[in-house]
Amino acid sequence: RRINTIWAAFPARTAKASRGYAAAAQARSVLENELAAIRAAGTWKGERVIKSKQGAHIHVDGSRGDILNFCANNYLGLSSHPEVVQAGVDALKMYGAGLSSVRFICGTQDIHKDLEQKLAKFHEREDCILYASCFDANAGLFEVLLGPDDAVLSDELNHASIIDGIRLCRAKRFRYKHMDLNDLEDKLKEAESSRLRLVVTDGVFSMDGDIAPLQGICDLAEKYGAMVFIDECHATGFLGARGRGTDELLGVMDRVQIVNSTLGKALGGAAGGYTVGPKPLIELLRQRSRPYLFSNSLPPPVVGSATRAVELLLASNEIAQSMAAKTMRFRNAMTQAGFTISGAAHPICPVMLGDAQLASLMADDMLNFGVYVIGFSYPVVPKGKARIRVQISAAHTDQDIDHCVDAFIQTGRKHGVIS
Ligand code: PLP
Repeated sequence: RRINTIWAAFPARTAKASRGYAAAAQARSVLENELAAIRAAGTWKGERVIKSKQGAHIHVDGSRGDILNFCANNYLGLSSHPEVVQAGVDALKMYGAGLSSVRFICGTQDIHKDLEQKLAKFHEREDCILYASCFDANAGLFEVLLGPDDAVLSDELNHASIIDGIRLCRAKRFRYKHMDLNDLEDKLKEAESSRLRLVVTDGVFSMDGDIAPLQGICDLAEKYGAMVFIDECHATGFLGARGRGTDELLGVMDRVQIVNSTLGKALGGAAGGYTVGPKPLIELLRQRSRPYLFSNSLPPPVVGSATRAVELLLASNEIAQSMAAKTMRFRNAMTQAGFTISGAAHPICPVMLGDAQLASLMADDMLNFGVYVIGFSYPVVPKGKARIRVQISAAHTDQDIDHCVDAFIQTGRKHGVIS
C-alpha cells in the first residue's frame, strides 16, 4: 500500500519539478541576457586576483614579479603594518574567531567597547557605535534619526550607501547640486517647515578626490537650523593636522554633529564601520538601527587590528604627513609632465583622460610597466570623464612614486595624451 501511495504522488511531483526546472531555466536566461548587456555596454567589471597581502608591492595572478599597487584605499599603509597584523593575531588567540551573535545578545566584548571609546576620542565626539561596515552605518542611521516630519538634504554625488540609507528613511528628500552652496540654500529654504533638517555629504568624494565645502555648509546649516552629517571614509586617519578628517582640515569639528566612517580603508583596511556623534543618537541607534540589531558583531581579529591602527594614529601624525608629502610629489610631477589631475591635495589623484577606451587601454599598458591602476568610466563617472584613479599610500616610497610617474609618461606618450 505504501509503494502504491508513493507511485500515486509521482506524476504530481514530476509535474511540479518540471515547472520548477522551467522557472529556473527562465531565470537563467533573464540573468544571462542581463550579463550580456553589461558586457556589450563595455561596463563589465573584471577582478584581478592578488596572490599576496595588500601593500605597495603585490603579486598579481598572470603578471610576473612585483607589481606596484596604486589603487588601494590603504592610504596609511596600515593594512599590512606589522603591529596592526600582530594585534589581529593576538585578538584572535585571546578572543576567538567570532562571536556567533549580534551585539545585544552575547556579542559585545570589552574590545568592542574599547574600540568605540577610542574612535569617539579620535573624532572628539560623545560616543560611537560599531557596524560590520560603513555601508551598514549609512544604511542604519537615517531611518532611526529622521521621520516623516523631517527633511534630509543630500549632495547629488553622495556615495551609494548614503543614497540607499536615505531611501530607507521616511523624511522629505532634497538633492542639491554637487557642492553647490546656492542650491543647498534654496533647498534649506524649501525645508524650513520641517521638524529636523539634516545636511548630508561625503567629506571627500571618492571619484574626484574633491573636498566638500564644509565651512559654507556649516554656515548655511546654522543659518537655517540644520544639522550636518559627513561620511569620512576617504578622510579618516589622514586629512587635517592630526588626521582626524575633513572637519579638522576645514576647522569645523565642533560644527559637524554626526560622522560615519570605515575601518576598511586607512584604519587597517580589514572591515567595519561606525557612527560617532551625540550620545542620545548613539544610544538610539543601539536600540533601533537594523544593520546593528540584526547582524553579527565585528570579529575580534578585525577589532584588534583596527584598535591598534587607531592607537598608532592617536600617538602620532607622522604616517599621515608622510602620505601627504608623497601625494604632492605625485601630483606635481604628473602636472609638470602635462597630465590633468583632478581634485584637491588628496591622495585620490584622478588622471583625467576623457575617453573610456583610452582609460582602460592605458591602465592595461601600465601593468606592463609593473604598475597596477584601474580605469573608471561611465556609469561609475559621468560620460566623457573617464580617468585612471591613482591612490597614493604612505607605504609607497619616493622611488615607487617616480616609477609610477615614469610609466604614465611612457604610456601617455604612446597614446598621445601628452607630447
Ligand atoms: N562611504 C564611502 C564614501 C565609501 O567610499 C565607501 C566604500 O567604498 C563606503 C561608504 C562603504 O564603506 P565600507 O567598505 O566600510 O562598507
